[in-house]
Amino acid sequence: MKIYIQPLSVNSHTVEILKNRLKEVFKADVFVLPALEASLRCYNPSRRQYNSTCLLRTLPSTRVTLGVTGKDIYATGMNFVFGEAELGGARAILSVSRLSTVDNKLYEERVVKEAMHEIGHVLGLKHCKNDCVMRFSNSVEEVDRKPATFCKDCASKIEGA
Ligand SMILES: [Zn+2]
Ligand SMILES: [Zn+2]
Repeated sequence: MKIYIQPLSVNSHTVEILKNRLKEVFKADVFVLPALEASLRCYNPSRRQYNSTCLLRTLPSTRVTLGVTGKDIYATGMNFVFGEAELGGARAILSVSRLSTVDNKLYEERVVKEAMHEIGHVLGLKHCKNDCVMRFSNSVEEVDRKPATFCKDCASKIEGA
């Protein structure tokens, strides 16, 4: 499996974390595309946030691509989202904006969990009620409470894919 990371206004430290950890987690070849700015077309000035679906659609749809941004993102009907993905598709977007903390180790775990979660959706996984990284997170506390692993059910679905 190949995973492409598209930096969209995000620091290189975060990209390095994802490159190394996603390689291990998915046993994938991970490639980092040349950095771009998050498209201003997707910026909503009244919310001071970027629309997640709009950013997702700026990504190439022909290969598994994770867009990563430092900008705060929202989806219609939500105050914010950590990410969005095409279920069983190719593209996912992750915002690290609300994952930041002074604790570097904790930051790394949060970023990796949410990236695994969005790529899990791309690989066809839905939200899961088990002790699993595919559990839906509505807050950073919920991100911290879930493990950085797929439960047995989800892991077997990915392997079968
Ligand atoms: Zn989700
Ligand atoms: Zn699961």
